[in-house]
Amino acid sequence: MKTTVFIVFALLCGTYSQAKVALFEYQDYKIYSLQDAPNQFPASLFFSVDQQEPFVQTAETYSGSVNVFVIEYKRDGRRIMVDSGFGEPKGQLLSAMKESDIAPESISDIIVSHIHPDHVGGLNNFPRAKIHVSREEFDAWENDASRSNLSKHLQETGHNLILFQYGTEIVPRLKAIKASGHTPGHTVFQLGNCYFVGDIIHAADLQLAHPSFCARFDMDPHTASNTRKKAIKEFHGDWFGAHIPFPGKYANQK
Ligand SMILES: [Zn+2]
Repeated sequence: MKTTVFIVFALLCGTYSQAKVALFEYQDYKIYSLQDAPNQFPASLFFSVDQQEPFVQTAETYSGSVNVFVIEYKRDGRRIMVDSGFGEPKGQLLSAMKESDIAPESISDIIVSHIHPDHVGGLNNFPRAKIHVSREEFDAWENDASRSNLSKHLQETGHNLILFQYGTEIVPRLKAIKASGHTPGHTVFQLGNCYFVGDIIHAADLQLAHPSFCARFDMDPHTASNTRKKAIKEFHGDWFGAHIPFPGKYANQK
């Protein structure tokens, strides 16, 4: 189950945008990493939830990215997308997909880590895909009046919306694991020794070494920090993170 091929190349689309794509080969599936947008996190975004370990700024900004992943099963060619990026015009996902020869209509399912604009903003580009989001996450947003516009965004996908329970296989061999804190129903998806970790990590350079440091986006910082520590301790394998610098992969060793 080792990565055998790793290709990164950039596409210049006219003079206005740049789409980055990368491909990782595993025995039974491929994982495409598609950059939706470049990103930097200012140091002021971070703070510590642990009084024993106060926040220490080591840089002005920390490198990030907005990454979307496509899993392609070799047996039948089925394509599952992990999150959907910002959507146009901010997001470049469609350019990156074109560069990778992945037609939007070839995506059968989209699994959503959580309901933030950089993860669900592009859903409308995939009207034929089934959208999978945890029941807990969906309910949390729907019941919050100030934020329910985001869950409405998912409802627009109509009958294609599937609300799953944790612990079940939502598509073959792909498990949904509760990893809350960033949002109430934030989900990590596991496929073999690959983990799609969503927003467990924002600034990888900072937070992998200091999991007590949270981004202000974390809705429940203490839970987010505990989830991050647990993931580092237990999820051994290849991580694919939405905001880990492109191509978004990190090898989490024992
Ligand atoms: Zn995010």
